Amino acid sequence: MDLTATSARFPLPGETIIGRGFVMVPGGKGANQAVAAARQGAGTAMIGRVGTDLFGDAIRGILDAESIDRRYVGSDRTVPTGIAQITVDGKGQNVIVVVPGSNDALAAQDVEGALRALGAPRVLLTQLEIPIEAVRAALSTAEPGTTRILNPSPASPLADELLALVDLCVPNEGEAASLTGLSVADVADAAEAASALRRRGCRAVVVTLGPRGSVYVDDSESLHVPAFPVEAIDTVAAGDAYCGVLAAALAAGLPIEQALVRASAGGALAATIAGATSSLPRTKTIDRLIASNPAIVAAPI
Ligand code: ADP
Repeated sequence: MDLTATSARFPLPGETIIGRGFVMVPGGKGANQAVAAARQGAGTAMIGRVGTDLFGDAIRGILDAESIDRRYVGSDRTVPTGIAQITVDGKGQNVIVVVPGSNDALAAQDVEGALRALGAPRVLLTQLEIPIEAVRAALSTAEPGTTRILNPSPASPLADELLALVDLCVPNEGEAASLTGLSVADVADAAEAASALRRRGCRAVVVTLGPRGSVYVDDSESLHVPAFPVEAIDTVAAGDAYCGVLAAALAAGLPIEQALVRASAGGALAATIAGATSSLPRTKTIDRLIASNPAIVAAPI
């Protein structure tokens, strides 16, 4: 559950300030990404864990509203549902504290059992708000035909052996920097960090760069997709929108160039609306943004 306060500026350590607004929105990276994918029309199942509390009920409710298969979202009586405490300042920047709660209780066996029952999905999308053993279980249990995407967020050190299980790694610039030790400020830096991550084992990498777009590198090409020109008011969930839309586009069989453009449009649109799941765009809105910006394409670097 995302608990979002807005204020003119961020408080300093030890300071209390009066905020402008407060909203509670069901979210978390896993749920956000699942909703983003489902809103593209992709058949979506979620594997996860919530608490038996109001926040858990709310997460189940939103998954149901989006027709997401939640048979593998377990309930935990002993720990609360994971929360993210978000503050957004007057410039649309955010700071976030995540308390994992029930997410930390998701076991490797839960994930293995769920994936076996689900069969061979076209795409598996995972992130780091669940225990690393659960992430490893997901990546290693996926069938060979499944495209395995890892959004390494929140930033955390990862073993090369885990990265070797990843077909497409999608860090933002901060995560790319922390995984590689390189500074990532522009397109050239992002391409370099992506290559460094590929050397560590991932088959392909996308580094997202907020308003500077995103950079894709695989064994045969390096591409840059500029950001769509939008008025960003709240970038919470831009990365989740990007990942969910990318996963859905690849599941639909789109070539990577088109999938990257759709994901960029998804990220941009998410930045134009406050909140997490509430800001995730549907296919038609993405189609319209792409149609009105024909110059935005994935171009070789
Ligand atoms: P995260 O939310 O994980 O930090 P980013 O900020 O890099 O991720 O955003 C993901 C993607 O969303 C970017 O690569 C870009 O395509 C799009 N995006 C994010 N912020 C903006 C923005 N201000 N304007 C246009 N597109 C944006």
